[in-house]
Formats: sequence, structure tokens, C-alpha cells
Amino acid sequence: MLLLARYVLPVSGPHIEDGGVVVHDGSIVAVGPRSDLLAAYPDEEVADYGLAAIMPGFVDLHTHLEYSIFRGVVDDLPYTQWKMEVHRRESLLSEQDWADSARLGAAEAIRSGITTIADVTTSGVSVDAARDAGLRGVIYREISTMDVDAVDAELSAAFADMEAWAGRVDGGRLLIGIAPHSPYTCHPRLFQAIADAVGDADTRVAIHLAGSRDEYDFVRYGSSPLGQDFRMQSGWGEEAWMPTGVSPVRYVYQWGVLDLKNVLAVHCVHVDDDDIAILDRADVSVAYCARCNAKLGMGTAPLGAFMARDMRVGIGTDSPASNSTMDFFDEMRVGLLIQRGMRPDQGFYSSETFVRLATVDGARALHLDHLVGTLEPGKRADIIAVDLSHSYQVPTQNPYSALVHTSNQEDVLMTMVDGRVLYDRGRFVTLDPESMRERIEEMRLKVRD
Ligand SMILES: [Zn+2]
Repeated sequence: MLLLARYVLPVSGPHIEDGGVVVHDGSIVAVGPRSDLLAAYPDEEVADYGLAAIMPGFVDLHTHLEYSIFRGVVDDLPYTQWKMEVHRRESLLSEQDWADSARLGAAEAIRSGITTIADVTTSGVSVDAARDAGLRGVIYREISTMDVDAVDAELSAAFADMEAWAGRVDGGRLLIGIAPHSPYTCHPRLFQAIADAVGDADTRVAIHLAGSRDEYDFVRYGSSPLGQDFRMQSGWGEEAWMPTGVSPVRYVYQWGVLDLKNVLAVHCVHVDDDDIAILDRADVSVAYCARCNAKLGMGTAPLGAFMARDMRVGIGTDSPASNSTMDFFDEMRVGLLIQRGMRPDQGFYSSETFVRLATVDGARALHLDHLVGTLEPGKRADIIAVDLSHSYQVPTQNPYSALVHTSNQEDVLMTMVDGRVLYDRGRFVTLDPESMRERIEEMRLKVRD
């Protein structure tokens, strides 16, 4: 298959005007000028996207597909209150609801040009949703308990689930990891047990870390609404909790989790220079979730400090429960603007930098950059085409700034993973989101006030 467009953005090198990409058997075999490729591959089936950009699919470093049904349910509350409101409603959904919610999330990911996800789930429904949708990614089994006596049983259950989930995916495209939820929902013994259990293995680990000020106060000073109201609501209110006197990063570091080989820390907003040095030394990857962090009043992560150290950092949307949409263009745009507006001392980022963060840097954060993240011969064909022809986009001087500053998820024309087209100009191949409309209404009634 030969994909053509006005712009081809390999990300590994300069963009090509009037370029194309040749895909054979799920792999990229050639990238270059349109005329060269048409001459070299005269019999190839051609898809010409016109005034558009062909580029690597987005790597979303933080999703919860199963929370998609919570979009708009709790919209205008700060982090801890938001967390409690969502938590209160979780028991209202059936297993089937969670599964359908995850399929809704998978459809939105594909529609937004996201080809790789890093999804955190307790139920495992996103394993099936991502597999059936044809997405690539890492699915982390979430685990949490503040009850020290429950640690061993919780961990056994998590590893049993991970083994079962690994059997449900066809290997290669989806990997299974573990996600201790956060410092305020995991007993220190749980962190220690995970560090011991994973050891030298390459098991992928994700953790929500240093997200809100309440989390910071809870860990360091022992008190915040997370230490009282949320713990009471979770049934952990009777467990003893003492101030640790250290930051969330240093606290988790003490229990060995950050020393593991393949750790993704989500948020990392409330981090100081020492924390950043720890994350860097331990080669921890960071998911920058600018819109979610801003919407819930969590703050703004020091992206410039991570990038100055050349740490593994990319972009995450978080779930529609917190962020309303998984629009990756909006995520790049807000992520860039908030840094320019709030942290100009740390760097004035270009649109091209954000396209890199959204693609190859995200792949590097997941240790998947040998497979995806750029358009280069030999890499898997995870490719999107984005329309740049609308009145709000033209004249297009620079495809990177057109993508970041003028485009939206509706502008995605085509999404391909492993050479398989999952969405093309209005048509979903693996999912049928239109048929889900009634189910969505049904579920909405359950979770609304
Ligand atoms: Zn999350």
C-alpha cells in the first residue's frame, strides 16, 4: 500500500513535501518523495490524502479506557473531590457497562489518531477492548490496598490476572504490566512486595505519582482530604498513617519501585529538583498530562526540567472522566501553551517538539521506540493521516504548527496499526461506535446524579 499526502512527517528527520510511505505486511518499507515512490512501486495500491499530513500514530502515555462513560459526569471539581465523586459512582456500573465503556474509549482513541496506549485498569476490560479494536500498547493491572494484611492476597490476585490477560492477547502488540495506583492508596508493604516480585524482570510498571497537592500533603505531612475523607470513603480510614516527612517521589523510591527496569510515572507535578534527579537516575519515564492536571487544579508539571535531563517523557490524556476527551491535538496544544504561558523560564517549545513528544518520545517512554514512533523502513506501520485542508487550517505554512495549533481529532482521516487500517474517512473497521449510542445513554443514566 502506498500512502500519499502533501506532507509526510517521518519525525526521525525533516518533513517531506509531496511525500509518501509504502507499507508491506504491517511494516514500513519506504518513505520518500511521491514521484520516487510512484516510480519505484508502480503496482502498489494508492491512498492519496491530499492536503494532509501523514505521520506516526500518537503514543498516549496515560489512559483508562474503561472510564470513558464518566465523561462530563464530574466536571468542575478539584482533584480530591473529583476522585471521591468518581469513586462513589464506580459501584453503579456492571461488568458489561465497564466493557462497553472501554470499547467507547478505544473508538475515541482510534478517532483521535492514537495508535499506542498505556492503559491502567483493574477489571481488565481494556485488554479485550484494545485487542478487538486493534490498538497497540501496554495494559497495566491496577492494584491498591492500605491494609497491610491484604497485601499478599492482592498481589497474588494481580499476578494471576496478569497471566490470564497475557493469554488473551496475541503477543507483540499488547503487553501486560502492573500499576500500584498511588502513594495514597498503596500500603508501603505493597510497593515493597511489587519491587521484590518484579525484581530484574522487564515487567512494565505504572504509578500515579506526585499528581495533586493533596497527595503531596498526605505523604509528607500526613494530612489532607485524601488522608481523611477519601480514606474513610475507601474503607481504609482505620489504617494507621503517619507523616513520612518526604515527598511522594522520595517516599516511593524508598520502597524500591522506582528502581525497577521499566517504570512509567504519571503526572509528576509536585516534584522538586531532588525528586527529578531521583527520577532521572532511576531512568523513570514520565507521562505529561497537561489538560487533566489543569482541569482538576493539580498544577503544571515541570516539563522543561525533565527535558533538560533528556529523560523519557511523553504525553498522556488520562481518561474522559478527568479530561473530557482524548483529543491528542488538544493535548499537544494545551501542553505547549501552558508551558509557554506558565513556565517560560523552562523553555519556549516549538510545535515540532510537541509532535515529537506525542510520537517518538512517547514510544521511548514505553521502551517501544524500536518498533514505533517514527516513519522509517523496518518499523511497524502505525501511521495516521491528518486533514490540513479546512478553512481554519489553511494556508498551511508549517505542518507541525498546523497540527498543534489548528487541528482537532475530527481532522484525523485515517488510523493504521501494524499496517491494518482501523479507521478511514468516517468508517471504523474494527468497532461500530454508532451502534453504541443507546448503551451509552443507558450507562449515563446510572452514573448521573
Ligand atoms: Zn490515571
